[in-house]
Amino acid sequence: MALRVGVVGGGQLARMMIAPAVELGIEIRVLAEEAGMSASLAATAEGDYRDVDTVLAFAQDVDVVTFDHEHVPQDVLAALVGGGVAVHPGPDALRHAQDKIVMRTRLAELGMPQPDWAAVSNTDELQVFLDAHGGRAVVKTPRGGYDGKGVRVIGAATEADDWFAALAEDTHGGRLLVEELVDFSRELAQQVARRPSGDVRAYPVVETVQRGGVCAEVLAPAPHASIRCSDVAAQIGVAIAEGLGVTGMLAVELFETTDERLLVNELAMRPHNSGHWTQDGAVTSQFEQHLRAVLDLPLGDPSPRAPWSVMVNILGGPESDALDDRFAAAMEAHPAAKVHTYGKAPRPGRKVGHVTVSGDDLDDVAYEARAAASHFLD
Ligand code: ADP
Repeated sequence: MALRVGVVGGGQLARMMIAPAVELGIEIRVLAEEAGMSASLAATAEGDYRDVDTVLAFAQDVDVVTFDHEHVPQDVLAALVGGGVAVHPGPDALRHAQDKIVMRTRLAELGMPQPDWAAVSNTDELQVFLDAHGGRAVVKTPRGGYDGKGVRVIGAATEADDWFAALAEDTHGGRLLVEELVDFSRELAQQVARRPSGDVRAYPVVETVQRGGVCAEVLAPAPHASIRCSDVAAQIGVAIAEGLGVTGMLAVELFETTDERLLVNELAMRPHNSGHWTQDGAVTSQFEQHLRAVLDLPLGDPSPRAPWSVMVNILGGPESDALDDRFAAAMEAHPAAKVHTYGKAPRPGRKVGHVTVSGDDLDDVAYEARAAASHFLD
């Protein structure tokens, strides 16, 4: 009988697991938040991932539960594990991707390189950190942030007053994370797959380009990365996957500093935007690898298929925008580009698809990918 994977969350990451599941003969079921979501074509249920009964019912007849996002609450995860459901990544690993203070604390214990940081409860504590770090710092809400929401560069402690006020009503301890403002030369991402029985595979480290707090494009592998940089990134990825007991795909977002250090920014325990290039540019895509890992099947080869791959995100424009015409135009003009669409209605800034081009020459590949994606710009 086919193995069955249940994915909680109906976004594009769940959607992109569907094709490799079909190819591998794995039955995939999705618990989507509502009808008409990106992964609704594999949805067998719609409901609230924060509701224990909904998630338990969904998990009844699958071999493993995994995730499209990290927001499933710990009490729901505990109920799944208590009910004998295989959950990958498990709650103990996942808590480090749910709360940035929990993550920073544990990474410090593991001796991972990080920006200076502190957990602060009030304006006075924040001011002490600012004074010790040249008067500027980055404040983050520990939970629930994404695409730069919940991240603020500040020059005075009072600039976080509204967040402290909101946290006063929070049940998670009411602290903010503050970090040194890292002088980075670029951002990198290291992906690693780990299966429950322990086998680990590292993908090549990639460069991620962010615009307005959102990933704009990914260059794979990271251009001009020294062997030392690539090795250290892979070692960090493997050490975190093993140290935290991560199962499935792990992405470690890194800063490369102007003095060539790597510092961990944050973690994602699922397929990640920095790994979309692997669908077309690697022997084993991150989506196939995630399925293999959570089912404890042998992992695939993470090697690139071509010297270079460039992935450019397609962000939505006005809601009235007819994307179908644009996709067709991009395919017409750039037959070598792999165009991926998420089946999502456009909204300004919303990720609605991506384009990947692979080849021998980085400049050519980047030009082609950006030109194909430019069909979606106004
Ligand atoms: P999110 O959870 O919203 O993705 P991140 O913690 O990854 O938030 O931060 C979003 C972006 O903000 C990062 O990609 C980086 O560009 C910038 N950033 C975050 N932390 C720092 C820092 N300590 N120093 C400098 N820039 C930072």
